[in-house]
Amino acid sequence: MAAILLDLQPGDEVIMPSFTFVSTANAFVLCGAVPVFVDVRQDTLNLDERLVEAAITSRTKAICVVHYAGVGCDMDAIMALAKAHGLFVVEDAAQAILSTYKNRPLGSIGHLAALSFHETKNVISGEGGALLINDERFIERAEVVRENGTNRSKFFRGQIDKYTWVDIGSSFLPSEIVAAFLAAQLEQAQAITARRLAIWDQYATWAASMQTQSHIRAPIIPADCGHNAHMFYLLLPSLERRTSFIAQLKERGIGAVFHYVPLHSSPAGCRYGRAHGDLAVTSDVSDRLVRLPLWIGLDEHMENVLAAASAALGA
Ligand SMILES: *Cc1c(COP(=O)(O)O)cnc(C)c1O
Repeated sequence: MAAILLDLQPGDEVIMPSFTFVSTANAFVLCGAVPVFVDVRQDTLNLDERLVEAAITSRTKAICVVHYAGVGCDMDAIMALAKAHGLFVVEDAAQAILSTYKNRPLGSIGHLAALSFHETKNVISGEGGALLINDERFIERAEVVRENGTNRSKFFRGQIDKYTWVDIGSSFLPSEIVAAFLAAQLEQAQAITARRLAIWDQYATWAASMQTQSHIRAPIIPADCGHNAHMFYLLLPSLERRTSFIAQLKERGIGAVFHYVPLHSSPAGCRYGRAHGDLAVTSDVSDRLVRLPLWIGLDEHMENVLAAASAALGA
């Protein structure tokens, strides 16, 4: 919906990280736009705002940031760049519900933002998501696009006496059952976040105690970011060490998984997108990153998980 609302045309360019899920790119490619992949920062693994300006061309229309692991991008720098070059900013806030940047909720800063309620996220409805509109110019059209390109919402409000097809669109609506499930999840969102943060903090304390001997690196949270404990990851020293770490945990029945295969080196990424620069950080971290389990109910298994993780790190 964000890509449709920005009225992207074939050949328009959207700057985004390569270290992200395929949906970030697909949304724009479906409109014929070209993802331009820019490297991420070493610390947060978010789009490196210092590399964005050099990737801007006369075709650039938008910057799509991804708040990886629910940790905010440097939105002041991104918004300033967008303003200077007349670009839109879309926040992929799929992982970032209830996270903040300088005390502002992520998803409320760019012109448009998307949340995900996929079952792997903090607040879920199985499948689903939300478009957040922070620029009122988009509101009226968004209502049409989400209802198959019709003015049905206006009809239901009694503002017109019949509804008709007025624009492009699709059925972006959740079913009543899905929406009811989500409503209950949203009521519990603060409690869910608090429980996740408690687990995350245990991981962080453990990782700090392991850091020197096992050369691992835990997530870095910038001082102006409040995070939602969406994910706890480790960066191991090498791909080999990661492979053996995952295998050893698996032997003990613990699911630890790696994350994104960089989009700029994927078959569709090469076909539909363009890499800006060498994306060295992206390639490096995608080989070394492992995510530890983090779900409500893990609390009672933490001792076991940390013991297994320590053993797998050779400690
Ligand atoms: C989960 C995720 C998505 C996709 O969300 P869906 O609800 O499956 O469309 C997009 N981007 C990022 C960064 C994600 O983590």
